[in-house]
Amino acid sequence: MQSTRAFVLVYLLLCISITAQTPKKLSSNDIHHELEKLNFLGTALYLAAHPDDENTRLISYLANHTKARTAYLSLTRGDGGQNLIGAELRELLGVLRTQELLAARRVDGGEQRFTRANDFGYSKHPNETLQIWNKEQVLGDVIWTIRNLKPDVIINRFDHRRAGRTHGHHTSSAILSMEAFDLAASKDVYPEYLKSTDVWQPKRLFYNTSWWRYGSQEAFDKVDKSNMLKMDVGVYYPAFGKSNNEIASLASSQHLCQGFGRISTRGSQDEYIELLKGDLPENKNNIFDGINTTWSRVKGGEAVGEILYEVEKNFDFKNPSSHIPKLLEAYTLLQKVEDKHWRELKSEHLKDIILACSGLYLEANASSSSATRGETLKIVVEALNRSDSKIKLNAVVIENTGASIRQTVNLAANKKESLELDLTIAKNAAFTTPYWLNTKGSLGMYEVSDKSLIGKPETPPAFMVNYELDFNGSILNFKKPIVYHYSKPDKGEIYEPFVVLPEVTSSFKDDVILFADNSAKEITLSIRAGRDKVSGTVALNHPKGWSVSPSSIDFEIAQKNDVQNFLFKVSPPKQESEGSIFPVIKVNGNSYTRKLVEINYDHVPKQSILLPSETKVVRLNILKSGNNIGYVVGAGDKVPESLEQIGYNVETIAVNNIQEGSLSKYDGIVVGIRAYNVVEELKFKQAFLLDYVKEGGNLIIQYNTAGRWREQFKNIAPYPITISRDRVTNENAEVEILAKNHPLINFPNTITQNDFDGWVQERGLYFPNEWSKEFTPILSMNDEGENPKTGSLLVAPYGKGNYIYTGLSFFRELPAGVPGAYKLFANMLSIGKENHQTENGIKGK
Ligand SMILES: [Zn+2]
Repeated sequence: MQSTRAFVLVYLLLCISITAQTPKKLSSNDIHHELEKLNFLGTALYLAAHPDDENTRLISYLANHTKARTAYLSLTRGDGGQNLIGAELRELLGVLRTQELLAARRVDGGEQRFTRANDFGYSKHPNETLQIWNKEQVLGDVIWTIRNLKPDVIINRFDHRRAGRTHGHHTSSAILSMEAFDLAASKDVYPEYLKSTDVWQPKRLFYNTSWWRYGSQEAFDKVDKSNMLKMDVGVYYPAFGKSNNEIASLASSQHLCQGFGRISTRGSQDEYIELLKGDLPENKNNIFDGINTTWSRVKGGEAVGEILYEVEKNFDFKNPSSHIPKLLEAYTLLQKVEDKHWRELKSEHLKDIILACSGLYLEANASSSSATRGETLKIVVEALNRSDSKIKLNAVVIENTGASIRQTVNLAANKKESLELDLTIAKNAAFTTPYWLNTKGSLGMYEVSDKSLIGKPETPPAFMVNYELDFNGSILNFKKPIVYHYSKPDKGEIYEPFVVLPEVTSSFKDDVILFADNSAKEITLSIRAGRDKVSGTVALNHPKGWSVSPSSIDFEIAQKNDVQNFLFKVSPPKQESEGSIFPVIKVNGNSYTRKLVEINYDHVPKQSILLPSETKVVRLNILKSGNNIGYVVGAGDKVPESLEQIGYNVETIAVNNIQEGSLSKYDGIVVGIRAYNVVEELKFKQAFLLDYVKEGGNLIIQYNTAGRWREQFKNIAPYPITISRDRVTNENAEVEILAKNHPLINFPNTITQNDFDGWVQERGLYFPNEWSKEFTPILSMNDEGENPKTGSLLVAPYGKGNYIYTGLSFFRELPAGVPGAYKLFANMLSIGKENHQTENGIKGK
């Protein structure tokens, strides 16, 4: 079937060459390793919920030691996590973590898959998770992955029997895997998915257990292990010069935004998997024991295997190209194999090996990193045969475009050929952006309209180039994406994906604009040109009761990538109100409403994301006392910008500048999220911060995670306090105000139940669960079925000032423009200033 073929091809390309930022260049050792993998016909699927859940030791072991095709299915892309290296949160964090997973797989040799499930944040129970996710869709996606990948064995990261004892997403992943194992082979289940693939019954399902599941190594030693397999994942690979666990550490260390950078380990290390379904293998060290993983598992495969095993055995590391005739012979035989799954999979793999053996270099470079619809640009093709094999390039075709070169070029040994093509981007070409963000999804699910994309780790490249090559009479086609490369003096050569972008994109400086009184505000819209000489008009669409002037602005931008700013005056209504303002930009009869976000870190390929360009506008009546705020930056949050929005003057305090007497100019000091986790030096400066409080200052500490960083927490507060893992994940959980008469609730804003409406993602996290009597707990809240948690907002007088510790998620609520969160924060900054009203003045009203 055509569609399956297309799916398999795209999928293969995705996992073999496309995801690599810099083209993968295989050494003789690498080629031999690939041959060993080519000659292993077995597949393993590892399954969990989030990026970073996966056990890279086991994935690397199966991919590199066992030589199995090994994939990790992460149900979500990890949007709900925190970000240790930058400002990306929610869907943008999901894009970054997707790329970190792909980077991890490039290291450990696995492949990557996803479902449409959205990581909506922490969930305490699978019942809740499976309600917020569309269980039927997620289960369908797991079954879709199983039917396409056809794994012999599946390994769950999590235990399906542990509901309520870990993240609900974790347990749900295991529950869905159990169900999918039983259903994937049934023709009656998800029959709509069977148009392009067949049913499949995996042989075995395991749970990747560990001593920590039992509390301690001693307890685990006593456990009956008769239904467990044990693998030593510390094996050494002389060909790579690395131990398996070293590779695993390098792979895990790609999860940088989660702070997973870790030291590498070596040496023997046992990994246990517990059989959940299927037959127990006789050999308790081999997950594939009893499963035929040789070429004889496929009808017609023996003849192919006969050649390929021989090549593997007698591999010429000095001259891999000497094997090309035999590899071509195997390729021809392989085309006669009836089993489509193995034929297509192994054909692509074998072609890549042939390419690598000949040292063939094929690359199509665009003259720019991006282009717009209707634009024409130069593509330069480099073709080079670095072997003595007779190879001719018959054609270069950019797929789905009219661009092609059909002339035979002899690729003489080590003589570089350069060819040029003109590529015109179609008027209806799709813009490049993560496919799962193209349509607005729900809290629990991404909406994917093009069903053929479901499961794929990323959007396929904008343009694929097909190279038709003649290897001494055998015609082989190779597909590779168009790339863009350039060099930076301080970084060297850099590869970027070539992308199609709109003629114009636009963005507001702020995602949320607050109006604390009736005054109009000037807001700036930045318009970025996607090509040279772009002109048009821009107008702002606004909610009822608000007004914007001017009603439209004409613009003209001469150069591509230039950004110009345009000022509009926005007047709010008198009463409290919220809505969104979005630009409509007209260019040559086309309307553009999207903004471009680029994610650019050294460890992952550059990402271009198109999202709706809009800003939330909120008119709120807010009072505040004090004006100059010092901010100690932690792991990164947008609280400072948010406070500026309601009129505070916020200054960032460099940790090195925290010293005696340097802080007295501030009316309040706020410490950013997880500062004590990530800013090592802060523990040396804590005494100065506490002195500042003693002298009458007002210090607000936002959440830090409990656990690994105990040392830093010794003096986090002037009185004993214990940070726990208590959290309230339901953003609508009822809040009880415990200290009704406390200034935090009354000055200068009166806080009521209504101020806890409209919160996003969660109430808060890592609340203290023990504190000394000097602290007053202000609020009480809890998730369904749990005891009230009273540590979300604690305040204690200290000397002449006040110390506040809060795990409430202000870092999410303020950037989201939640009015009640602003009022509460203004009260936190105003505490102790009840008697200074005339001195500092009260803004507002
Ligand atoms: Zn997780």
